[in-house]
Amino acid sequence: MDIDKKKSKAKKIIPLLKKMHPHARCELVHGNPLELLIATILSAQCTDVRVNKVTSSLFKKYRSVRDYAESLPGKIEDDIRSTGFFRNNARMIRNCAQELITRFGGKVPARLEDLVALPGIGRKTANVILGNAFGVPGITVDTHMLRLSHRLGLTKNSNAVKVEFDLMKIIPEKQWIDVSHLIVFHGRYICKARKPLCEKCSLHKLCDYFQSNLPLKKSPPVKR
Ligand code: SF4
Repeated sequence: MDIDKKKSKAKKIIPLLKKMHPHARCELVHGNPLELLIATILSAQCTDVRVNKVTSSLFKKYRSVRDYAESLPGKIEDDIRSTGFFRNNARMIRNCAQELITRFGGKVPARLEDLVALPGIGRKTANVILGNAFGVPGITVDTHMLRLSHRLGLTKNSNAVKVEFDLMKIIPEKQWIDVSHLIVFHGRYICKARKPLCEKCSLHKLCDYFQSNLPLKKSPPVKR
């Protein structure tokens, strides 16, 4: 499919997603860029619901970047234990906080190239932070975005960075943040990985996955 056809397809898909998910937003509870950065690190191997439970007490104990950077060994580990991979995440949080102090005056930077230079921060996390803490447009390519952009036929690439650039070419910049939320919601609640709930979806006509399975659905029962 050429790029103009993909653009026109994306243009039809986005309003339908908005109708299905009018309240799509970042589900990680946070009050400032630092809290979002910490929550995003924790969310890598954990549901947003669990992260929010952990951060509701974590953010009361750790008020500043110094609180993380100068925490006693093992302290962060204890405070985030239920999120899984807690040793690794605690190390990442501590290293990240120390880098923020050393290189950015203790503030979370608002540029992609600065964020991805921090320990453990990739483009996906960086785009979540940029979009939700600073309003800087970016497309977050997580597992839902990868799966849905394939099912909908918006890209053939499987590399996350290539998918991000493919989508940036066909979706207007002012919609990048919204689309990232819409796709996460759609992937989480309707177009699930193992068994998409196509009966609840209004994208049938625009979905390659659904269309390619139509003959199977329409085929008459086998006569014995
Ligand atoms: S029709 Fe089914 S496979 Fe296609 S986007 Fe909707 S839920 Fe996903």
